[in-house]
Amino acid sequence: MEYSDNYYTRTKTYNPYFNKLSESLQCDVCIIGGGLSGISTAYYLSKINPNLNVVVLEKHKIGWGASGRNGGQLLHGFSGEDFKGQKHTFDQQKYLWNFSVDAVREVKKNIHELNIDCDLVEGYLLTSVTKKHDDELKKHIDLLQNQYGYSSAKYLSKSQMSDYFQSPYYKSAMYDTECSQIHPLNYCLGLAQEILKNKNYKIYEGAAVLSYESNNNVEIKLENNLVIKSKKMILCCNAYINNLNKKLRRKIMPVKTYVSTFKDIPQKELNKFFKRQITVGDMLFVLNYFRLDAHNNLVFGGGVSYSNVDPISLEKSLKKSIKKILPGLEKYEAWCTWSGHVAITVNRFPHIGFLDKNIIFTQGYSGHGLALTTMVGKMIAEVLESENNDIKLFENFIHRDFPGFGVIDTPLLVLAMSYYKMKDLINL
Ligand SMILES: Cc1cc2nc3c(=O)[nH]c(=O)nc-3n(C[C@H](O)[C@H](O)[C@H](O)COP(=O)(O)OP(=O)(O)OC[C@H]3O[C@@H](n4cnc5c(N)ncnc54)[C@H](O)[C@@H]3O)c2cc1C
Repeated sequence: MEYSDNYYTRTKTYNPYFNKLSESLQCDVCIIGGGLSGISTAYYLSKINPNLNVVVLEKHKIGWGASGRNGGQLLHGFSGEDFKGQKHTFDQQKYLWNFSVDAVREVKKNIHELNIDCDLVEGYLLTSVTKKHDDELKKHIDLLQNQYGYSSAKYLSKSQMSDYFQSPYYKSAMYDTECSQIHPLNYCLGLAQEILKNKNYKIYEGAAVLSYESNNNVEIKLENNLVIKSKKMILCCNAYINNLNKKLRRKIMPVKTYVSTFKDIPQKELNKFFKRQITVGDMLFVLNYFRLDAHNNLVFGGGVSYSNVDPISLEKSLKKSIKKILPGLEKYEAWCTWSGHVAITVNRFPHIGFLDKNIIFTQGYSGHGLALTTMVGKMIAEVLESENNDIKLFENFIHRDFPGFGVIDTPLLVLAMSYYKMKDLINL
C-alpha cells in the first residue's frame, strides 16, 4: 500500500491522514478509486451538498495511479480529435472543446481558491517534427481560432519558437498561454485535504473493492467481509478496473508510458534550449512530453509499451529521445525514473456514462486526463445533486471494445500500434 517511487512522491508537500476502513458502512454516494476522477467528484459533491454522506475507497493511496505519476501537463482538448464516425454535430464538438478549455481554467481556479501548493507554470508548446505535422498544426490553429473562437493559441515558426524554447528536432509550434503544468500529486492531495474538512465525507486508503451488486441500492464488498451499502456508486478505477467490471475493461487498454526527472542539469546547459520554464509536447504518435518545471528540473516523458513489457533500462530508452530533442543533456543522470498506466480507448475520447440508474463510471482519458478529470468530477457531482446534461454528450460517443479482448487483445493491439510507431520512425 505504498506509493511508487517517483518525483512527485519524493517532493509532495501534503500528508493528509486518511483512515483505514474497519467496519461496514452505509452512505449516500460511494466513490471507487482515489485518483483525480474520484477525488474531484467528492470535492464538488462536498461543495454542492455538504450534508451528503460520501465515502471514497482507494485500494492503495490517494493519487497512487496515473494521477500521482503523470507528466504534469495541464492541457485542453482530448487525446482523440477525430469525430468521424461519431454522432456529434459541429456545435456539440465545439461545446466539448469548450468543456476541455473550462477544465484547464477550473483546475487553476481550484489552485488559486484553495491555495494549493502545486508549482503551476503557464505556457505550452505543441511542436511539429515533420512538414506534415506543420501543415496539420496550421489547420488545427485555424480551427481553434476561427471556428471555436479560441484566442489563446498562436502559430510560431522555428525562429519565433526560439523566444521560448529551441531544439534542432522541431520545425514549428503552437504556443498556448492557457495550457500549463502542475505537480499533479500535490494538486490531488490538496483537493483531498479540502474534502476532509467535512466530517460527512470519508476517504479510506488500502480499501480494495472486490465486487458489487446493484439492485435498489449498491452493495459493495471489500476484504475482511466488509460491506458498504450506498444509494449511488461512482466507478473511477481507470486503467485498474480489471475484473470489477469486464464490460468497462473491454473498452480500455492499459498502456505503459515512462517519465524521468533530471535535477542536476546546470542552468547554462538548460538555457541552450529553454528560454523560460515551459511545457512541451510533440505531434508524434508515440509522443515526447516534457517540461522545465518551477524548480528548473527537467521532467521528460515518452515511450510506450503496448505489451506491458518494459525496456531493460527505462532511463536509457528515454535518453534516446532526449539525445535527439535536447542533444547533450542525455549525459546527465536522472534523479528518478518511473512508469505508469494510461487507459486508452479505441477512439481516444474518454468513456463516461451510466451502468444503471445507480452507477456512473468514468475512464479512458487516453493520456489526457489531468485537466479533464476535474471538470468530469464536477459534471458527475452536478448530475447527482443538481442538473447537468453534458454527460449526454459523453454518453453519445461510440466506444468499441478492443479487438479480441481476453483472448488475443494484446498481440493485435501491438501489431496495430507498431504500424503507427513505424510511421513515426520513417516520418510518413
Ligand atoms: C505516466 C503518465 C503520464 C501522463 N501524463 C499526462 C499529462 O502530462 N497530462 C495529462 O493530461 N494526462 C496525463 N496522463 C493521464 C492522466 O494522469 C490520467 O488521465 C488521470 O490521472 C486519470 O485519473 P483517474 O482518477 O481517472 O485514474 P487513476 O489516477 O489511475 O486512479 C484510479 C484509482 O483507482 C484505484 N482503484 C482501482 N481499482 C480499485 C478497486 N477495486 N478498489 C479501490 N480502488 C481501486 C487505483 O488504485 C487508482 O488509484 C498520464 C498518465 C500516465 C500514467
